[in-house]
Amino acid sequence: MTDQPVLLDVHNLVKHFPIKGGFLRREVARVRAVDDVSFAVHRGETLGLVGESGCGKSTTGRTILRLLEPTSGQVWFDGKEVFKLPSRDLKQLRRDMQIIFQDPFSSLDPRITVGESVAEGLVIHGIGQARERAERVGQVLSKVGLHPSHMQRFPHEFSGGQRQRIGIARALVLEPRLIVCDEPVSALDVSVQSQVLNLLRNLQQEFGLTYIFIAHNLSVVEHISNRIAVMYLGKMIELATRDDLFRQPMHPYTRALISAIPLPDPTIKRERIILKGDVPSPINPPSGCRFHPRCWMARDICKEQEPVFEQKAPNHWSACHFAEEVST
Ligand code: SF4
Repeated sequence: MTDQPVLLDVHNLVKHFPIKGGFLRREVARVRAVDDVSFAVHRGETLGLVGESGCGKSTTGRTILRLLEPTSGQVWFDGKEVFKLPSRDLKQLRRDMQIIFQDPFSSLDPRITVGESVAEGLVIHGIGQARERAERVGQVLSKVGLHPSHMQRFPHEFSGGQRQRIGIARALVLEPRLIVCDEPVSALDVSVQSQVLNLLRNLQQEFGLTYIFIAHNLSVVEHISNRIAVMYLGKMIELATRDDLFRQPMHPYTRALISAIPLPDPTIKRERIILKGDVPSPINPPSGCRFHPRCWMARDICKEQEPVFEQKAPNHWSACHFAEEVST
């Protein structure tokens, strides 16, 4: 997939949330949700974006789409600089870049029918007349495994998995090129998860879609991703092809995440790495390597010097002073 042209290019993306306090409501601290993150996504690929809750993965996805305004950095989508686009071009960009949310129920308006909900994007963008829109919505509902007659129903009449299919239909109806899938299966039963993952994979093949697939669980992104990026406390700490990442992780945090995935064969044992402590606060991240208070490989340099996120092997980036020793 990395032989395909780059569709999305993210450079030094930063998103901080100011915390205001005192009588004058001055900024007293900042939540460093995304702190200098760079990566590229190639046309037609799925880039998995993984990390614990609060690591900045969802904020990264939403800032790329300009659902949140960036603090700094640049994002190029198909050669256009997203953060500098005037509002008329931004409208086209919103067609090209869509999002699927984690909780399909709260992202659907319970007062309007599924047909109206899926057609909303078409109305906003002034696409087609009422009849053409209804036809298009019916086609898209069929594509996501629902029936066109479901248009007349309301969200509460559907199961969680079906509601997520409606969420996918809402994104798909505008014929986007990139979809940010923000934990799209995390709220679903395991049996339904694989159905929705298969649907996303089939739609990708049929429509040549590019995905950023966000999840807190490495096992969810394992089967759908071409490459996987791991985030920790606002930083990207590893990025590699799925096979390289699992075969030879080059960051201790990734190795710990892999060790937590249950193996299908119970006779095979894998050493489970239990990380000590909790994720530190993104308001006041640790000095040097942000992972050092929890890292079993940490040495003195790790507390003082922040490791650079750099290529350690072909197409394999890591931010660890001792990346080559992680898998030995
Ligand atoms: Fe651990 Fe040091 Fe590597 Fe950070 S730089 S992950 S503390 S070994």
